Amino acid sequence: MHPQLELLLELQDLHTQRRALQDEPLRDMEEAVFDLKPEEALDLLDAKITELVGRLDPGIQSRYLSFIGTLGRAVVPVLNGICYGCFVATPTAWSAEAGRNDSIGVCAHCGRFLYYVD
Ligand SMILES: [Zn+2]
Repeated sequence: MHPQLELLLELQDLHTQRRALQDEPLRDMEEAVFDLKPEEALDLLDAKITELVGRLDPGIQSRYLSFIGTLGRAVVPVLNGICYGCFVATPTAWSAEAGRNDSIGVCAHCGRFLYYVD
């Protein structure tokens, strides 16, 4: 897998975790177990997100940041040739390419980063 794609997936996972934490802060029991306040957990996540964003190539970084800010998801899976960000078929030339996750692909329709999970 392309190292930048791995980074994008890791980043998106952290963003998803961040939203979950904001929507539903750590419960009392979890707080007691981990000794971590919700705002501390968010700070740690933010620090990691900032670090990883800094490792993205400039072009990928700006695209990632615009999508994560407006559409929520910047990286979406492709299943059976369909982009799961916009549910439109991705171009077959790219779909048929061998080692697809070894390059950075973007959806021709919605512009999100794509990764194959077939
Ligand atoms: Zn799409």
